[in-house]
Amino acid sequence: MTHPFLDLPPLSAERFAAIEDRVARLLDTRQDVLVTQGEALLPLEGAIRAAAGPGTVALNVITGPYGQTFGHWLRDSGATVHDLAVPFHTAVTAGQIRDAFDEHPEIDFVSLVHAEAATGNTNPVAAIGEVVRERGALFYLDAVASVGAEPVLPDAWGVDLCVIGAQKALGGPAGVSAISVSERAWARMAANPGAPRRSYLSLLDWKERWLDAGRKALPHAPAQLEMLALEACLERVESAGLETVTARHRGAALATRAGAVALGGGLEPYVHEAGDAAPVATTLRVPSGVAASELVARALADDPALPLAAGGGALAREMIRVNHYGPDATPEAVRACLAALGRALEERGLTVDPAAARDAVAEAWR
Ligand SMILES: *Cc1c(COP(=O)(O)O)cnc(C)c1O
Repeated sequence: MTHPFLDLPPLSAERFAAIEDRVARLLDTRQDVLVTQGEALLPLEGAIRAAAGPGTVALNVITGPYGQTFGHWLRDSGATVHDLAVPFHTAVTAGQIRDAFDEHPEIDFVSLVHAEAATGNTNPVAAIGEVVRERGALFYLDAVASVGAEPVLPDAWGVDLCVIGAQKALGGPAGVSAISVSERAWARMAANPGAPRRSYLSLLDWKERWLDAGRKALPHAPAQLEMLALEACLERVESAGLETVTARHRGAALATRAGAVALGGGLEPYVHEAGDAAPVATTLRVPSGVAASELVARALADDPALPLAAGGGALAREMIRVNHYGPDATPEAVRACLAALGRALEERGLTVDPAAARDAVAEAWR
């Protein structure tokens, strides 16, 4: 008996390479692109462990939980790490990056998260890239939450290591990811005796056995289902048009922000400036005396399919995340989330205006 997920013909090296080329087109990059067979944490960790070592002086920008994780890996690799933490309700500025270089001119590696789905902010990568390039440091970027929701342009921005995943705005699978690697970054890795080799984390192994060998034979069995899903997801984005997909996300973010303000009940955008708010997801602050996790639980009890979550860890009390990405970057999803939150707030005795929220969503979407 055949089964749609089983008994598939083998995925050829040629097809694997063609999928990598499609990712390169999506990122408008001429750098090497590797599709990595694991969730995005795989290339995120692999790239830090390959490019950073005891001689590295890293500026690690923390605008959410992922930046904290990168700091752990950097320290673990032996790098000297200067953390630049900014409050989660804002974005980092190019000026703050410049100040950090002025204070520590020996910085030769910068790690940054582009957009943070977990905190709802997005950072000005183009402007930061100019500063990083001026100072000659290697630039590492986590674009997992931004790709598909807003432009991600490693070449134009001078990003040396750019990691993406398909599971957020691209609406694709979570079990594969990709990284673009500049010549400079490969050279840094090759010169690093601590870079993983003969390891699942090793980007250099893939360079040697796959890229440098002309992408003729895969060094390992391809993650078949995930690769097919990634291919389908790229096809869908290409046929809709990347700009249409990013416009839907921008629309969803603007509509959620405006709708939440119009709804009232004490809800406020968590990210103060609209320009710092990520198109991929919108975070909201709940009124004091109400627990965000309880409001979300109440909203999900009526409709478990809503793309709502409470903030992670300590943020679970104060932050609601509206994850309007991928298939949920629609006016319907935004309206449904706000309606459900409105009912949950009303049950708590707070005054809300659901009609005004609906109007604000419609208006913002235009
Ligand atoms: C979602 C996301 C990832 C991927 O991690 P998961 O734990 O699988 O969600 C990495 N970086 C950022 C910034 C993300 O938003």
